[in-house]
Amino acid sequence: MTEYAIYRILLFVFMGLAAGAFAALLFVPVPYGRHNRPGWGPQVRVDVGWFLMESPSLFVFVLVFFISPRNTSPASLVFFGLWSAHYIQRGLVYPWLIRGRQKHLPVVIVLMAFFFTSCNGYLNARWLFNFSPNRGTGWFADPRFIIGALLFIAGFAGNIQSDAILRNLRRPGETGYKIPVGGLFKYVSCANYFSEIVEWSGWALATWSLPGLSFAIWTIANLAPRARSHHLWYREHFRDYPPKRKALVPFLI
Ligand code: NDP
Repeated sequence: MTEYAIYRILLFVFMGLAAGAFAALLFVPVPYGRHNRPGWGPQVRVDVGWFLMESPSLFVFVLVFFISPRNTSPASLVFFGLWSAHYIQRGLVYPWLIRGRQKHLPVVIVLMAFFFTSCNGYLNARWLFNFSPNRGTGWFADPRFIIGALLFIAGFAGNIQSDAILRNLRRPGETGYKIPVGGLFKYVSCANYFSEIVEWSGWALATWSLPGLSFAIWTIANLAPRARSHHLWYREHFRDYPPKRKALVPFLI
């Protein structure tokens, strides 16, 4: 069997699993953060956990970039830059900025995410730098690239801003929860998740690829149910929670 045949099977299995994950997560919130609970086995500190969960997306992507044949074209370099910017932040910087990082999360969740981010890094990089049609600089003038890249950058900026707002709700050493204010939190309970979804939808559009689409679908499958759980949790725990604030999408849901 060729690598491409294995790649296609992995990609379609991966996309199929997203539908199952979405359904399951509506009923069982992933047990970390405010939804952590006993019964999920041994736990690891959240900073170490986030590093192990997210950094494979960077390391695998960079490795595949260097061993793939088409890694010097301008389009390849731009996609390499966008992906790396996100994952240097998420995998190498974000974990050590978390406030309340003395908390823990289950090892089983870390292992699942490790597997997911490794596969996702491979699927996206191998497509971009080997299996995709060879895109010249003309791609930069294509509306799919222009709109997608703008969405990616806007989502990336919104995600960093929202995570910073959440982080600053706590003083160093604190672990409790407050009502977030500012930025897109004016409209939604989970501004960081909304921005993340915008970002990876932009990626799917800009790369115009099945692995890009698969990641955008996975991001929605992961974060939409969790936004619903967070939103219900806020309403349950804060009597003065802003009544007009939606869970995930401004003015809609
Ligand atoms: P959360 O919004 O649940 O938490 C982010 C951080 O802020 C945590 O440290 C959390 O503490 C803290 N926090 C959250 N709400 C409050 C509050 N009201 N008061 C004080 N502190 C608060 O995000 P996640 O941890 O789920 O995700 C982190 C990042 O990873 C996000 O940017 C998200 O978009 C991204 N992500 C992306 C996924 C994808 O599929 N692409 C999947 C999962 C996450 P605590 O942990 O103690 O609750």
